[in-house]
Amino acid sequence: MIRVNFSKLLAKQPIKSLIEGLVQELATSICITDAQNKILWGEFNQHSPYQYPITVNETVIGYIYGETKVQIIAQILNYLVQQEFQKKNLAIETLDKYEEINFLYDISSKMSTSLTLEEIIDVVIEETKNLLDFSQISFMLLNQKKGELEIFSKQQGKVIKTQGTIRSIEGYVLQSGKEEIINDVNEDPRYIYEGTMIRSLICVPLKVCNETIGVIKVSHTQPSNYTTKDLKLFTALTSQAAAAIQTAQYYNKLKDYSETLEQKVAERTQELEQANQELQKANDKLEYLAIIDGLTQVHNRRYFNQYLVQEWRRLMRERQSLSLILCDVDYFKLFNDHYLHQAGDDCLQKIAQVMQDVVKRPADLVARFGGEEFAIILSNTNELGAARVAQKIRLEVEKLKIPHALSQCSEYVTLSLGIATTIPTPDISSERLILAADKALYQAKNMGRNRYCLYAFRPKQF
Ligand code: GH3
Ligand code: MG
Ligand code: MG
Repeated sequence: MIRVNFSKLLAKQPIKSLIEGLVQELATSICITDAQNKILWGEFNQHSPYQYPITVNETVIGYIYGETKVQIIAQILNYLVQQEFQKKNLAIETLDKYEEINFLYDISSKMSTSLTLEEIIDVVIEETKNLLDFSQISFMLLNQKKGELEIFSKQQGKVIKTQGTIRSIEGYVLQSGKEEIINDVNEDPRYIYEGTMIRSLICVPLKVCNETIGVIKVSHTQPSNYTTKDLKLFTALTSQAAAAIQTAQYYNKLKDYSETLEQKVAERTQELEQANQELQKANDKLEYLAIIDGLTQVHNRRYFNQYLVQEWRRLMRERQSLSLILCDVDYFKLFNDHYLHQAGDDCLQKIAQVMQDVVKRPADLVARFGGEEFAIILSNTNELGAARVAQKIRLEVEKLKIPHALSQCSEYVTLSLGIATTIPTPDISSERLILAADKALYQAKNMGRNRYCLYAFRPKQF
């Protein structure tokens, strides 16, 4: 209800001069009082026979006293007061609307930048403080799957989440989708005591596209006078909050989904990388097995053949020497017979290791040629160099001092070696180099073993 300050109104122009004019014109005297008969205008005359009330919306705000003619002044004054009241009312309504629009604009811009539930709860709490007097505010979101409420409230600056069942006033609001004001819970049979001191509350549904996703409850420990205007503004605030909460929920779902997806992709990538590494290892192993001799760990005959052809061609282009040494263990059959096959295997491994240690250049190659025979390819190496290598190998094997009781040339295991060297040419093949080295080896055997022989390489002899 709006109050009209009658005394101020009477002092206001043009009302003041209008009454003065009328009094003069009608040649009469008047007295105006407020509703409590306190004189506001003129002097009270005991003999004034008439009294007229001045009213606004049927409420008496004062009286006017005088003789008959005063009735005209009373009618005019009533009319003016009514006009004034309507003007003021309109101004207040406009101001209310302006404030409401401002308020809504404010929250809508704050909500649109809030992406987490915590941020939204903060904005709602802050804005509600400007709007209502309350002791506690809770957000209850419906978990459709579990059929329960997730309750969020702020305690000591932190958002706390608890579970609750759907009941009491919240239950009604969720079901009806309509807001409720309860100014005294003791007088509402629907209210169920929650263990906290609540006397009054406003409970508003959080609605998105006609679907109620939860409620917001503002409560007070004292009975309150929450009005429909409070409710209207609070509902406007909560409808903004509902939209923001749903956006936040979608955003979170999307974030969770994209994180799971990213994690899955990372896991798959790791699995693939691991599988690739294992595949690579298996391939390397296969490649290794394909070119390495299992017993002695030097290259096998297959790789030797391939490498010899490759080096033959290369050195042909470069017109450089290529040497081949063929090595054969002396009286190895007898060694095996005497010391048995396992000892023979061990002996072959040791000899292979010696050869590998002596032959150091990257382009050189040691290979098991077959049985107890080895072949060494020495690229860019002439006869002299090859002879040095052969001699070194022979001496190093001797130094191993592997006893050979049945050898007829030494008390230890020894080697015979045949060397052939040439500068490769297109008219001869690498096979001829092997034959030549074999001939030199045969010669070394014939000459008493434990020695090397050079094949006097003359192309014409081929
Ligand atoms: P020579 O001095 O004339 O070379 O006589 P040798 O007994 O060494 O020659 P022969 O060719 O008669 O015998 C080679 C022997 O090498 C036959 C076999 O017992 C042995 N041998 C070949 N390959 C292996 C192998 O992988 N392991 C073992 N333990 N022995 C092998
Ligand atoms: Mg042999
Ligand atoms: Mg032999």
